[in-house]
Parts: sequence; C-alpha cells; structure tokens
Amino acid sequence: MYGRGTIRFHKKTALLLTCLTALLAGLSGRAAEADGKAVVEGRRVAIVIDDLGNNMSGTEEVMNAPIPLTVAVMPFLATTKRDAEWAHRVGHDVIVHMPMEPLRGRKSWLGPGAITTDLSEEDIRRKVEAAIDAVPFAVGINNHMGSKATADERVMRVVLDVCKKRGLFYLDSKTNYRSVAPRVASELGVPLVQNEIFLDDVVSTSHITKQLQLIRKRAMENKTCIAIGHVGIPGKKTTAVLHHETPALKGELRFVRLSELVPSTGIGPAGQ
Ligand SMILES: [Zn+2]
Repeated sequence: MYGRGTIRFHKKTALLLTCLTALLAGLSGRAAEADGKAVVEGRRVAIVIDDLGNNMSGTEEVMNAPIPLTVAVMPFLATTKRDAEWAHRVGHDVIVHMPMEPLRGRKSWLGPGAITTDLSEEDIRRKVEAAIDAVPFAVGINNHMGSKATADERVMRVVLDVCKKRGLFYLDSKTNYRSVAPRVASELGVPLVQNEIFLDDVVSTSHITKQLQLIRKRAMENKTCIAIGHVGIPGKKTTAVLHHETPALKGELRFVRLSELVPSTGIGPAGQ
C-alpha cells in the first residue's frame, strides 16, 4: 500500500501525501470496543498533530485548537522555529517530527535531515542532535514515516540513546507494527508511548468524527488514548471536528498534552 503510484515530489504536497500513504501501511484506526458502561472519570486523551514546520495550511487552526495538543514539528523547514515557538506559547507540547526512512517511497519525500538506514551510527547521532536543536521547546520525538528505520535495531538504538541523553521521550508513530522502538527503549530506559489511532487516515469529516468516537471508547476502556492527526488539508477538517465535538466530550474525557501520559521510564500506559 505504501508509496503507491508515482506521486511526484512537490514541496508541501509531497510531505502531506507521503504521510497519508504511510498511514495506510500502519494503523488502520482499530480500537477495541468499549463495554458501553457508565461514564468513568479521569480518562485522558492526548492528540498529536504531525507535519508542522512547513507553513502548511491549517497551522493556525491547530494552534488555536480548543484543547491542549501536542505538535510534532519537522526540523530544518521554513517555519520550524516559528511553529515550535508558537505552539509552546499557546500551551501545546512540542516534539520533533523526525523524518525517517520508509520501506517504500523516495527518500526525497522525507524532507531535510532524514534518518536513513544506510547512515553510520555517528551520522545518525549527529542528525538527531541537530534536529532536536532545530526545534525549540521539544520534549520528545516521533517518527515521520519511518516504516523501515523504526524496524532497524541499529538505527533505533542510536535514536533512542540520543533521546535518553537529551531527556526526551519517544512516541512511536506505529507506521510499522514491526517497530523495535518499544523493546529497545525498554532496554535503554527511555520513556516511550505509542500511537493507537490515526485520526485522519481518511480525510473526511465523517471519518474523523468516527475516529474521535473510537478514541473516546478506547479511553473509557483503557483510561488513556494517544492519537495522531495531521496539519494541512486533513488538519483543517481535523481541527474543525475538534472544535465541534470536544466540548461535549469534556465531561467524560480530559484532553492533555502528551507529556502527561509519558512515564518517567519504560513503556507508557498506552504501550502495554
Ligand atoms: Zn509525518
């Protein structure tokens, strides 16, 4: 499914399209059905918005969302610094959206500073360090694409070691269910959480609304839920749904920044 067709690289469009196709290869938005019992308090939901940093449409809507979000900003792009500072100023968490090699698709789709599996360990370390330095206020890292790199233990050992040294957590975007990140993070003692649901893997208001209900059900069942959406064309619809739907959910769910769901060490509540 991944990298289908011959989509040509075209600035923002390429990043958007490649990320969307990555979603098709990853989670399909599955979530266990809740048992439908009474409302339980203290359920926490963290929504992460990927692909900031490239002056994408929908950025302002993301920043002005009615709930605290976690904003994943790509390094070395036109609005990397602006978006990270903006998000921090309005109270969202900021994480580095690290471009990482997919199983299929052109490396040029990844954007600058990407981690590819042909790099030396020294080069990987240097690139991750530089990406963290490029994104002000970052408290964690997640992978942009990365279905190949996250399954490569040599690569992930370096990426996660940098996380540990810099005091950052890792959010596994789960673009590949064979990701070794949870196991290696556990070995190294790096706090790790995992994406459970893609909000806008299909870009329609009805689908995003349905995914938000899945998030609600999962949070009711497991106490927490972590989900990823996107800026850009999907982001406009995603933030519109958040504006419209979250007020009614606030009675039973608490929307939090991702750092609130990250354990001091080990795998987060959603990664069990
Ligand atoms: Zn992405």
